[in-house]
Amino acid sequence: MEHRLAEGLWQLDTRLGGFDAVNASFLVEGERPCLVETGPQLTAGVVRQALARRGLGPQDLATVVLTHIHLDHGGGAGEIAAAFPRARVLCHPRGARHLADPTRLVAAAAAVYGPALDTLYGRMTPVPADRVVAAPDGQRIDIGGGRWLRCIHSPGHAKHHLAVLDERSGTLLVGDAVGVRIPGAGPLRPSTPPDDFDRDQAIASLRRFAAVHPTQVVLSHFGPAGDPPSVLADAEEQLMGWCAAAAAAVAEVDDLDHVARALEGLASRDDREPVEPDRERIVEMMSGVRSNAAGLLGWLRRPAGGAPAAPSPAWGGPVG
Ligand SMILES: [Zn+2]
Repeated sequence: MEHRLAEGLWQLDTRLGGFDAVNASFLVEGERPCLVETGPQLTAGVVRQALARRGLGPQDLATVVLTHIHLDHGGGAGEIAAAFPRARVLCHPRGARHLADPTRLVAAAAAVYGPALDTLYGRMTPVPADRVVAAPDGQRIDIGGGRWLRCIHSPGHAKHHLAVLDERSGTLLVGDAVGVRIPGAGPLRPSTPPDDFDRDQAIASLRRFAAVHPTQVVLSHFGPAGDPPSVLADAEEQLMGWCAAAAAAVAEVDDLDHVARALEGLASRDDREPVEPDRERIVEMMSGVRSNAAGLLGWLRRPAGGAPAAPSPAWGGPVG
């Protein structure tokens, strides 16, 4: 169901995989309404219904913004674009061409997810190329009535990642750049998937977020994360801890399983919040230790801990 984050700003539950409170989209209401995140293809209908409940007809949605083009965030873009024919679809310039031709994106996701691609996410229908907009850093989106959103480039989780600031309420929609915290599944944890996770970029992005002094930080997985300065500091500390643990593990044995075991040892539990095994399993499916280990391994294997040895695939990587 819809949850009010601020005046005219709603969090919608995409019900990814049929689960509650795992994956979110967001609606900013106004003369020119904007949807941030479409969720995956398989649950695009859920998002359409939520928009209808908020009173949006097919001609009403002006803009869609994707924080990045991983399939759980943007996989439904083709369906939403078809249902709302006037909407433009904005994303990071590094993601734009893959919205118009998702062939490589979907092929890469299929290789990583296997059967889960068709049970959990779905694939991706192209967005007409003339409706795709590559959003530069700082791009502002006019909602009408003096309300503006601002795109803040925030690579690290993926190089095609951006966050969306609602300038009116100070709410910062951070996609996956701060990490993942699913209610009932323990504390915030980093999300460091293949193919282009980069620690230094991720840290720089967290500091950019702190510098805009958001009133709230909202995760796509899932919801408001708590006091922004503490959340951002906690995210940075955890990320540094994971990267250090992965580096130490690789120095012992350069092997994915070994790195994954090292991360499992770090999967701290917050005793203040009861952990439900079913919810933990969902996190493992969405942003699992093995996927995070693979992303960290990729980062560590690049020369100088981050500079790509060769141009890496522009689609960026499908996980998380
Ligand atoms: Zn992601």
